Amino acid sequence: MAPVETLLVTKRLREVSDSSWTIDAAVGSGAYESLRKALAMEPEAIIEEVKTSGLRGRGGAGFGAGQKWSFLPKGAFPRYLCVNGDEGEPSTFKDHMLVERDPHQLIEGIVITAFAIRCNTAFIYLRGEFALGADRLAQALRDAYARNFVGAKILGSDFDLEIILHRGAGCYIAGDETGLMESLEGERAMPRIKPPFPAVQGLYAAPTIVNNVETLSTVPHIIRMGGEEYAKLGVGRSTGTRIFSVSGHVVRPGNYEVELGMSFRDLIEGLAGGMRDGKEMKFFIPGGASSPWLVPEHLDAPLDMDHVQGELKSMLGSGAVMVFNEDTDPVQIAWRLSKFFAHESCGKCTPCREGSSWIEKVLYRIANGLGRPADLDLLLDFGNNIVPGLNAPFAQTTICALGPSIMSPVVGLTRWFRDEVEQRIGASGEPVELKMRVL
Ligand code: SF4
Repeated sequence: MAPVETLLVTKRLREVSDSSWTIDAAVGSGAYESLRKALAMEPEAIIEEVKTSGLRGRGGAGFGAGQKWSFLPKGAFPRYLCVNGDEGEPSTFKDHMLVERDPHQLIEGIVITAFAIRCNTAFIYLRGEFALGADRLAQALRDAYARNFVGAKILGSDFDLEIILHRGAGCYIAGDETGLMESLEGERAMPRIKPPFPAVQGLYAAPTIVNNVETLSTVPHIIRMGGEEYAKLGVGRSTGTRIFSVSGHVVRPGNYEVELGMSFRDLIEGLAGGMRDGKEMKFFIPGGASSPWLVPEHLDAPLDMDHVQGELKSMLGSGAVMVFNEDTDPVQIAWRLSKFFAHESCGKCTPCREGSSWIEKVLYRIANGLGRPADLDLLLDFGNNIVPGLNAPFAQTTICALGPSIMSPVVGLTRWFRDEVEQRIGASGEPVELKMRVL
């Protein structure tokens, strides 16, 4: 049977695609019904419902959403909800779509979540480049205020909520939750050392929850279906659906919402149409630029956060699946990704600031025919100063996850293409080929 999508979060934008972002179309297709239901519940009951659903963050880390909410210290007010709409991970484009095409679903998720965690001020941190999304979200907020879905005494209840829309200025590390809070406070988006964790001391030193756009857009569906019903979707601890942004050398690149547990093969070869131009696949990146690479032998693995992390030593991360064909030069890809990370390193910690630049330089010379025999080991040595042991995330020497992310392309190269790279470098140690390409 041909693989099919399971539409929850992308249902409205598919079914009323010509106007899904307007309040009339949204309300006409059920928007804010879950909010009415939630306002009749106790806040704690909503948190329990989300815990029962097993919903895990869709931004990258995959932490349990309901569990995160329950970390807020009792009686500590004010408290804030921050919506992470920065979506800077290369080749991830799902939150962009949700903001542009279904902003009311996001607003409904924000209001329900704010009610559940007893917060009266929420901030949406939106990537600055999302110009159309910002316009539509701003209009959606005005419309939601006008109909009392946001504002004072929402829908006749005692609950008040202000939502502030803030546009970023184009900075990858503002997508880190503590970098985001620094940016909101008017500082450079430099991540903070944890602890204290944001749930205890976050924005303006108050307890803060940070959730991503897709995570919050899922909340109305959990309230509508019930946590138990939602948890029936998916596999193991990876419940529900996720949107995967498939890009690269496939026939139909795009966003696909699927039930977790589907295989990479069904996603890439089924929904995305497989490799284009009759080429073979060389490798794929399963969860955004930060995730270690996988190869065709992994295609039958399930889209399961725990399986991908535990068995395949990679991650589903932001849900961006990049597919590369047999003609792709993996060193050029590794160099280009490392250049991105080196550029985006905020410079706060030495291993990341220095290591990212060195890694980029060494990959550049290998990619351009000037590699030296010891270069792959040199790269791994740099990496060992950033993430001792490489596969031991808790041993990282950096403040945020960007540091370890720099090593993902290097790990991909050494794990799957070591022979090819060594051959390229040349046994003699002399440059064997000068190959300049502008990417
Ligand atoms: Fe900044 Fe890199 Fe340190 Fe993160 S790991 S805080 S990006 S220097």
